[in-house]
Amino acid sequence: YVVSKGDLLLDTEKYKKLFQISEKFHSTLNVDDLLGEIFVTLKEIFPNYSYSLLLAQDAYHHSDLPIMDLEYDSENMIVINAYESGEIQFESSDASEHAALYAPLKSNSKIYGVLQVIAPEMTKFPADEAEFIRSLSESAGSALENAKLHQQAQKTISDLQLINKASYQLNSNQPLVETMTIMSEQIKSSFDAQEVGFFLFTRDQLTAKVLPGSTAFFLTQQAQIYIDYVKGKFQQSNEPLFIGDLNLPQPLSPVFHSVMAVPVVVSKKLKGFSIIMHRDPYFFPFEAFKLLQSLVYHSSLALTNALLRAELEKLVTTDHLTKLHSRKFLDEKIQQSMKKDEEGSFILIDIDNFKEINDTYGHQIGDLILVQVANLIKSSIRESDIGARWGGEELAIYLPRVSLETGVVIAQRILHKVSECSDPHITVSCGVSYWKKERNDTYQYLFKRADEALYRAKETGKNKVVIQEDASMVC
Ligand code: GH3
Ligand code: MG
Ligand code: MG
Repeated sequence: YVVSKGDLLLDTEKYKKLFQISEKFHSTLNVDDLLGEIFVTLKEIFPNYSYSLLLAQDAYHHSDLPIMDLEYDSENMIVINAYESGEIQFESSDASEHAALYAPLKSNSKIYGVLQVIAPEMTKFPADEAEFIRSLSESAGSALENAKLHQQAQKTISDLQLINKASYQLNSNQPLVETMTIMSEQIKSSFDAQEVGFFLFTRDQLTAKVLPGSTAFFLTQQAQIYIDYVKGKFQQSNEPLFIGDLNLPQPLSPVFHSVMAVPVVVSKKLKGFSIIMHRDPYFFPFEAFKLLQSLVYHSSLALTNALLRAELEKLVTTDHLTKLHSRKFLDEKIQQSMKKDEEGSFILIDIDNFKEINDTYGHQIGDLILVQVANLIKSSIRESDIGARWGGEELAIYLPRVSLETGVVIAQRILHKVSECSDPHITVSCGVSYWKKERNDTYQYLFKRADEALYRAKETGKNKVVIQEDASMVC
């Protein structure tokens, strides 16, 4: 028979107890802890009974809790009845000399499973105890729903955070190597992956280049079989791959069975792909696959942009803000000059208190000042000289075949011009260094001396030119 709510009244003590249990259940937001708590509580109240929980859908792997999968078969019709009706069911048999009760674990929206309680040496379950267990499992059901919703919300939040962080990284204009390394680290830790690789097709679409940030394995010979496999798949179709037990013919060790791979597609064109691997079979849950897909999808455009930018930066010899030469161009020209010329001067220029200028007028005005200084430099040097943006707010000039005396005169000229013409008013400091053929100088050392001179100019009051001679030359 079925006991429905209200058939029996529980006494005050039992209500109190039930209330306490319910509070305890609802204070746990961890599903596993909650399940454990249910058993502990039941054992405490009815120590002579035995309990098990038959859960639908979820596969819980508790070694220590009596939790089983709820299976649909004719032998446990009574369990199925409890699950489908949402009502408590009883089983009594004189032959086996025990009574059993099946209480559904339900919330408002869902039935999670069925609690089985066996009372030994009884033919009929005591009605008040049955009512107590019914109420308790109802409370457990709603607490379980809470915990599950909480768990889902946490997962969703951390997934979104991961995607957000990755897109932010990719859009942050940082060097590609750093960005990709961070992405790779994030994927590795979020998915517990052993290997993470990013690949980009060359223009002919035949070769897949390993991108920086990929784990070192992808640079080895052993990885090629996996790369070729995934590449082959994506050349046929852009469907992402989710493989639980990959068995490639004759792989070199180590062998990876779990493989997830997602293509990088921009404007419907296949640009590259990423591969995530683990040695154990069926290691990645399907949710990880879905998350990886949205991660790669959200990053695809930013990723290819970052790559293009990196390639462009290599090609570009002009700084876009100041229209001065790039640092790379300057480096090359100095090295050439040090091979073929007899002497040369190098000036490093840094704007004084530029932080303050930015803080006072804003970065846009700061940028304009940089352009002003750049223009003053350009108007103070000859065609054969090289004015460059050294980095940030530091500018540099290389004067091939120019003596130290002339170099210093030019630095001073620029110093005065800046102080006279800048608006809002700023000053600069200069460090000057010089090389000469007979002394075995290097261009790194030439830079270093100018940098040290600049440091001294700053230290000793700014708005001045300081020369750093080669120590061996002074003596
Ligand atoms: P110091 O006299 O010692 O050089 O002081 P400083 O304030 O110039 O100090 P520092 O060199 O440490 O600071 C450089 C500042 O220049 C920090 C940064 O905000 C600013 N800056 C660097 N590059 C740019 C740029 O391209 N545009 C603008 N507006 N500001 C820049
Ligand atoms: Mg500086
Ligand atoms: Mg400065």
